Amino acid sequence: MALPSLDRIKMGRAAFIDCRRSDCGICASVCGFSAISISENGCVDAHPDICVGCGGCVSKCPDGVIRLFKYRADDEFEVTFAHDGELPDIGDTVCIKPIYKNESIQASVTQVIPRGAGSLFGIIRAVYKQKQ
Ligand code: SF4
Ligand code: SF4
Repeated sequence: MALPSLDRIKMGRAAFIDCRRSDCGICASVCGFSAISISENGCVDAHPDICVGCGGCVSKCPDGVIRLFKYRADDEFEVTFAHDGELPDIGDTVCIKPIYKNESIQASVTQVIPRGAGSLFGIIRAVYKQKQ
């Protein structure tokens, strides 16, 4: 799984896929930019240099394991992720796994996109501070 570099996410949102399945591949088929590939052994690879951060893959992943990250400024990051169940309100606090770290961290919700037709989940955007 390719982790987008800090330089990459300073330029805009990029997908990070934390998937251990080898029997799906839906994300690769929905990405219109060929930014996700499936290797010969069935494993998923994201290609941050090609990804345009459109988010088309995020709500289509049945396991909800695709997130978009963007670096804003002053150690502030934005994360976009799929959410199953009742959606939070803007300003609420949610726990997320940040990029480049393992421990969970609190993030403040900035945008909520309800589940649309053809989407499996609602989408949340949230921001958090993380020292580099
Ligand atoms: S965010 Fe868009 S361009 Fe990037 S991997 Fe997902 S569908 Fe492809
Ligand atoms: S859609 Fe989700 S579960 Fe399926 S291969 Fe892609 S990342 Fe894995």
